[in-house]
Amino acid sequence: MTSTRQDGDTWDLASGVGTTATAAAAARAIATREGPSLFADPFAEPLVRAVGVDLLTRLASGELPPGDLVEQVAIDVAKVRGKFYDDFFLDAGSTQVVILASGLDSRAYRLLWPAGTVLYELDQPQVVAFKTRTMAELGAEPTADRRVAAVDLRDDWPAALRDAGFDPARPTAWSAEGLLGYLPPEAQDSLLDTVTDLSAPGSRVATESRPNPKPGDEARTKESLNGVSERWRARGFDPAMAKQRYFGERNEAAPYLAARGWTLHGTTVRDLLAAVGLPAPEDDGMRLGDLLYVSGTLDESQVPSSRVGRECLGRF
Ligand code: SAM
Repeated sequence: MTSTRQDGDTWDLASGVGTTATAAAAARAIATREGPSLFADPFAEPLVRAVGVDLLTRLASGELPPGDLVEQVAIDVAKVRGKFYDDFFLDAGSTQVVILASGLDSRAYRLLWPAGTVLYELDQPQVVAFKTRTMAELGAEPTADRRVAAVDLRDDWPAALRDAGFDPARPTAWSAEGLLGYLPPEAQDSLLDTVTDLSAPGSRVATESRPNPKPGDEARTKESLNGVSERWRARGFDPAMAKQRYFGERNEAAPYLAARGWTLHGTTVRDLLAAVGLPAPEDDGMRLGDLLYVSGTLDESQVPSSRVGRECLGRF
């Protein structure tokens, strides 16, 4: 199966790439029910319900058990991933925050941000408009000065960010969660370059760095994604998961950022899960266990550096 992605394609939360945001929120809703002491997102379930995809609503609400529709490892990863980004922002203490590809992320409404925080959310126009409207209907109030920019992250998004009030002279905490695989390789590089260009010294970043595939990995990944898509299709909703991603070689995000002056520390999904007593993923070709969650700081000097936290990453 090949990607059906095209330059300039667009979506809402029930179609195309948008379904990945709704599926991620459904996983957070299930994760919240299973282990609220580790990670809790009380807005995930009502947001998924508002999107109106019946299968995802039933999974998010608990009416339908995850069974073979949402693998336990996906639920466990939602817990550690959610906690990783929550901890990143809480530790960063920055008062200028940019959440790239915000999807149904509710951090602008549920984290305790430092006084005076301005938080920018960037995603496709229908995605940001939907969340703004739905959260207002739910009676939720942002816990920071939340501003949105409706953009295509493959295009000139910095202009929209600046128009919304972003100040590149102030240190920023950036996240790009669950985004990079949905960008073409050159757009990923360009996005990471732009994040670096817009970052004052002392800025922070958090994202994922996926190891490049070994021969045969991608075929197995597609098979795995197609298996999930088929099971969902049998329940009335086809997310065509393998068609939403861009496959093939690309620059790995961690070394790419390190070469641009970021000092990073990373932890594999396997280690994040083990640290809270959850089992490692099986190797199904997606090499999920090897996926790195990375965070770090732009050096004061911005001198390109390969000082990635080797003791943590162990791969560079
Ligand atoms: N960060 C959110 C989370 O973790 O729940 C959403 C992750 S979801 C897997 C991918 C998100 O990336 C979607 O919200 C999608 O709309 C956004 N996205 C992907 N490509 C994009 C693009 N070219 N422009 C704007 N948003 C994009």
